[in-house]
Amino acid sequence: MTNQMKALVKARPEPGLWMEERPVPEIGPEDVLIRIHKTGICGTDIHIWNWDDWAQRTVPVPLITGHEFAGEIVDMGRNVEGLAIGQRVSGEGHLIGKSSRQSRAGRFHLDPATRGIGVNEPGAFAEYLRLPAFNVVPLPDLIDDEIGAILDPLGNAVHTALSFDLVGEDVLVTGAGPIGIMAAAVARHVGARHVVITDLNSDRLALAARVADVVPVNPKEQDLAEIVSELGMKQGFDVGLEMSGNQAALDQKVEAMVMGGRIALLGIPPGKSPVDWSRIVFKAITIKGVYGREIFETWYKMIAMLENGLDVRAVITHRLSVDDFRKGFEIMRGGSSGKVVLDWT
Ligand code: NAD
Ligand code: ZN
Repeated sequence: MTNQMKALVKARPEPGLWMEERPVPEIGPEDVLIRIHKTGICGTDIHIWNWDDWAQRTVPVPLITGHEFAGEIVDMGRNVEGLAIGQRVSGEGHLIGKSSRQSRAGRFHLDPATRGIGVNEPGAFAEYLRLPAFNVVPLPDLIDDEIGAILDPLGNAVHTALSFDLVGEDVLVTGAGPIGIMAAAVARHVGARHVVITDLNSDRLALAARVADVVPVNPKEQDLAEIVSELGMKQGFDVGLEMSGNQAALDQKVEAMVMGGRIALLGIPPGKSPVDWSRIVFKAITIKGVYGREIFETWYKMIAMLENGLDVRAVITHRLSVDDFRKGFEIMRGGSSGKVVLDWT
């Protein structure tokens, strides 16, 4: 192993990412070194590429980007136990503190000191990644590298979908991006009755219908109230999964919910967004904000569901060599693809 590696770096405070030579990270006693095999491009990486207001406020320059990955352990710190060189792994990209009340209670995903790889700390768009052993999630043989590379967003979908009991419930997913589509697939897998997914983009609705047994609806063309009666639902949706970050989608969702419905919000609105709170109060709706993945319960449930027939592979629409990363980012920026996976081997 040389001590240099290829990495996709936010090298300058302007739009773009650049492939550069960087030193292979040195690991501490509690860390592992992972040889990256495949990575997924996330909406977050697009914000970083575009260098929008959020990225400018958040991301230090220079920084190796990327947080969705699968690879293989090639080195381990002296205190690491229970892992092995050669083991195929993915991992949690949120690096947590251990001293907050939440962490000490085992609710690691609520630690306020969380830092993200590829956002605040060196990331996974590189030949090698240093990761605390605590964050490593071993991959069973059944989960290949390309699925391993999308466990982070699948985990967002699983965390959101499992926020409320879905068994026998009618579920409305707003936003058929990769995460909304995977959340719809999870809702179907765990036994929801009807799963309706909305988007304004027909390519995304078509992709949703290919990935999962869901009812795709374009609210510009079809009235959700009509869908509700066509499906034989009496009042509206029991559970809403908000995966668009769009205000109109949230308004439509609130209207389409039953009295006492429950909504999990993963989508991130751009800045402050007007909300009809009185409607939410009078409908007695419960709203839960969802951030990241539960560490590590979401990972456990997600891997168990993948072993038990959950199939999201069709959400990967593009597979490219990392040498074609510009093309991959262009496809993602187009907004009509599913997941784009880059190969680093
Ligand atoms: P995405 O941008 O690919 O998908 C969002 C989809 O919403 C798009 O297909 C868009 O056409 C659709 N949309 C826009 N307006 C709509 C409307 N009025 N009705 C229905 N659909 C509409 O995003 P993604 O990668 O699938 O992620 C989903 C959301 O989750 C994003 O907002 C993202 O920022 C957010 N996110 C949050 C977390 C978290 O930890 N909370 C983690 C990852 C992603
Ligand atoms: Zn991501």
